[in-house]
Amino acid sequence: MTISWHSNSPMEQVVIIGTGCAGLTAAIYTARANLSPLVLTGTQPGGLLTTTSIVENFPGFPEGVDGFELMQRLQKQAERFGARVKFGNLDSVDFSGQPLKLIIDGDPLETRTVIIATGSSPRGIGLASEHALEKFGVTYCATCDGALPQFRNQPLVVVGGGDSAVEEATYLTRFASQVYLVHRRDSLRASVIMQERALHHPKIKMVWNSVVTEVLDVAQKKVTGVKLKNVTTGETSALACAGLFVAIGHTPNVKVFGGQIETDEKGCIKLHGGTRTSVPGVFAAGDVADSVYRQAVTAAGTGCAAAIEAERFLEEIENS
Ligand code: NAP
Repeated sequence: MTISWHSNSPMEQVVIIGTGCAGLTAAIYTARANLSPLVLTGTQPGGLLTTTSIVENFPGFPEGVDGFELMQRLQKQAERFGARVKFGNLDSVDFSGQPLKLIIDGDPLETRTVIIATGSSPRGIGLASEHALEKFGVTYCATCDGALPQFRNQPLVVVGGGDSAVEEATYLTRFASQVYLVHRRDSLRASVIMQERALHHPKIKMVWNSVVTEVLDVAQKKVTGVKLKNVTTGETSALACAGLFVAIGHTPNVKVFGGQIETDEKGCIKLHGGTRTSVPGVFAAGDVADSVYRQAVTAAGTGCAAAIEAERFLEEIENS
């Protein structure tokens, strides 16, 4: 796309990209500082938490809270103080100097500060058959798709060994006849409490030391099973199932910044003290800059920090 800015492009103080926990918390703080932030939803308003069922570890909700409801509440809270939430996508940026320039759904916009809270997206195994059967039984979100009729009372396969895989496997036991949790090692990475739930669940069967090498059956355009390889013995086998749920981690959403922001070896935005990025006036919060904690509450915490730092940056440029 050709970027063209003109002198009467609207000038913002703060643009927040992303409406997950990080983005909306940054919105609450910058809105309360009277900065009237513009908050861009991107393709997944509410972020990844909207694809979770009950969030049990967000402080202040002893009974747990529905992920979608939590995000709606955060948005309402931000809007109450003057945040403007806009449905739209960032096309490109020019961070070569002040003001920072953005193209949003084809329209140019200038801003003093940007808070990047674009989160991360689910990673795929990388098989051609996986890609071909996406939306035909291969999915990356049990909460979104688990209740579909095609998965009811059927055997299902979940791949992964972290909290996401264990959470998805446990959730799918509501619908499936049997859940196979396929993991490439012989122990789980997931937290102990989550592991225990899965390991003792009568409907979950662990398939250790194994990887999926092919998803069947591309010719029928639906998932009928998976081919497995035991990575310790080299043995191959097939497992019948109606769905494959891939839960092997996430990739930070940084592509749209086109290399204008420094990233680390894991692809996360590199922070230079607090939430400062390699570009003055650009701050990053939440999973896009965090490969370690990746929790809703840490995302909210860094969203708050980014807002405070953006506010201070604005004060500095005003006084300079
Ligand atoms: P994760 O912790 O990075 O785990 C990814 C899992 O996928 C690991 O077990 C890994 O195996 C496996 N894996 C990675 N690449 C693979 C491949 N190509 N083929 C097969 N397996 C592969 O990711 P996550 O489970 O999405 O969790 C991310 C973060 O969110 C964590 O901090 C987690 O605690 C948090 N989280 C929390 C909750 C909760 O508290 N309710 C729920 C979900 C996520 P190895 O173990 O061998 O590396």
